[in-house]
Amino acid sequence: MTGDAAPASIPHWIGGKPYLGEQSAGDLARSGHVVNPATGGLSAEVPFADPTVVDLAVAGAADAWGSWRHASIAERTRVLFRFRELLHGARDELAAVITAEHGKTRADALGEIARGIDVVEFACGVGDLLRGGFSENASSGVDTYSLRQPLGVVVGITPFNFPAMVPLWMLPLALACGNAFVLKPSEKDPSAALFLAGLLADAGLPDGVFSVVHGDKETVDALLQHELVKAVSFVGSTPVARYVYERGTSLGKRVQALGGAKNHMVVLPDADLEAAADAAVSAGFGSAGERCMAVSVVVAVEPVGDELVARIAERIGTINVGPGDDPASDMGPLVTKAHRDRVASYVAGAAADGARVVVDGRAHARVEAGEGFYLGPTLLDGVRPKMACYTDEIFGPVLSVVRAASYDEAIELVSSSPYGNGAAIFTNDGAAARRFQHEVEAGMVGVNVPIPVPVAYYPFGGWKASLFGDLHAYGRDGVAFYTRGKVVTSRWPDPAGRAGPGRPQLGFR
Ligand code: NAD
Repeated sequence: MTGDAAPASIPHWIGGKPYLGEQSAGDLARSGHVVNPATGGLSAEVPFADPTVVDLAVAGAADAWGSWRHASIAERTRVLFRFRELLHGARDELAAVITAEHGKTRADALGEIARGIDVVEFACGVGDLLRGGFSENASSGVDTYSLRQPLGVVVGITPFNFPAMVPLWMLPLALACGNAFVLKPSEKDPSAALFLAGLLADAGLPDGVFSVVHGDKETVDALLQHELVKAVSFVGSTPVARYVYERGTSLGKRVQALGGAKNHMVVLPDADLEAAADAAVSAGFGSAGERCMAVSVVVAVEPVGDELVARIAERIGTINVGPGDDPASDMGPLVTKAHRDRVASYVAGAAADGARVVVDGRAHARVEAGEGFYLGPTLLDGVRPKMACYTDEIFGPVLSVVRAASYDEAIELVSSSPYGNGAAIFTNDGAAARRFQHEVEAGMVGVNVPIPVPVAYYPFGGWKASLFGDLHAYGRDGVAFYTRGKVVTSRWPDPAGRAGPGRPQLGFR
C-alpha cells in the first residue's frame, strides 16, 4: 500500500466466489486491520460478517449440502486428490501469504502447509475410514449393518497461529465425510483461508460446499446460533474455547473446542543435555513461541539445572531474528504490537517476582530498531509455580526454567498444570520414560521428542483446559466427529416362500 490509497478489502468466500456484498473498501461498518508484523504497515482491511452475511453463507452451504451429501465417495475423494496436488504445487505461494500476515519464517510456513497436506492425504482414504460393519443373520433372516453419515453444515473457527494448518486439520475430513464447511479464520491473518478456498474451487468442489466468513465474536455468535449449523470445531485460547463449547452445546450443536497450553519438558539428570538443549530451543522459540505445542516450561531435575541453562543460553545467541521472508531469519516477529507488548510484560513481571532473566529479548537489536513487532528470545531461570510467567499462557518467545529436586516433584508439577496439551521427557532411562507416559496428565506425550504432534492418522488433542469435548482433531476422531452413526436392521421376504410367523408376535424377543 502506498500513500493515502484505501487499503484493499479481503473478501469473504460465499457461493464459490469472493464476496464483499455492499461493503466497499474504506466503508466497512465493522472491520479489522491486517498488518504486516515485520514492518507494522497496514496491508488490508477485513470485513466482519454480520448475521445477514453469516446467514447467506450458512444457507448457501445447506443448499449445496443437499447435493454434496449424495456425491459418491469416489467423487468426494477425487476432489481431495486434486486439492492435494494443487496445494502441494502452490505451497511456496501460500507460504508467502502466511508469512506476510503472520510473520513466521518461510520454513515455518512451509512446515505448517506440509502438516496440513498430511491430513488431506489421510482424508483421501475416507472410503476405508467410513466403512461400516455388517452382521449377516443377526436373527433368523435378519441382517444388521452400520453406516456413518454426514451431519450437514459444520463450522470451523480457527486461531491466528496456524492460518493454513489448523483449517486443514478440519476441512479435509469434514468434506470427505460429505459435509458442507464454513470457515471463520482468525481476523489477524485471514488470507490463507481465501487461498485454500480458491484451491478447493479449482479442485472441482461444488460452489457453496466450502465458504469463508471473516469476523469477530459477533460473527462467531451468529454462527453458533444458526439453526442450520450442526457442529463446530474450534481451536484457540482457553477462555474462548470454553465459551464456544458451552454456548454451542447449550444450543444443541456438537462441539470440539481445543484451547490453550502450557507445555512442559522435563529433563532428567541422565538425559543427553546437548539434545535436550537443542530441543528446548527449537520447541521454545520456533515460530516465535506462537505454537500451541511450543515448550514454554523446562523442568530441570537437579543437578542438571545450571548446565542446561548455560547450554540453552549459548544456543539462543545463535538465533537470527528478522523478517520471515528473509531466508537468513530463524525467528520472525510476533503477530501484533499488542501481543508483543503483552508477552514483554511477562518478562518484566518475572523479574519483579524474583526470576532471573538470563537472556532478555526486550534488549534485542531488532526491538531497539523499532520497526515491526519483534521480541528477542528470552530465557527465565528460577521460575516458581506461583509466578504469572508460569501460570499464564504467554504464547511468545519466552522460555521458563523451573528447577525440581526430584523426578517425583517434576511429574507432580506437570500433572498439576490446569492445561494438558503436550508434555515431554528427556532421559536415557526407559523405565522413567515409561512411567512418564503412563502417569502424566496430558493428551500428547513426547519421549526425547519436544513437540509430540501426532501424525495425521492419530488424533490431536489435549486434556483438561486444553480441550473441551470428547473427540480430538483429525485421525479417526475427526471421522467420528464429522459423521453420525446409523444402524440398519433388515429382513427381506424369503424367496423360497417359507412361512414366517403365522401371526404378529407381540412379545419382546
Ligand atoms: P483466540 O481465542 O483469540 O481466537 C481464536 C478464534 O476465536 C479466532 O477466530 C477469533 O476471531 C475468535 N474469537 C476471539 N475472541 C472471541 C470471543 N470472545 N468470542 C468468540 N470468538 C472469538 O486465539 P488466537 O489468539 O487466535 O490463537 C492463539 C491461541 O490458540 C493460543 O491460546 C493457543 O494455545 C491456541 N491454540 C491451540 C491449539 C490447540 O490445538 N490446542 C492450536 C493452535 C492454537
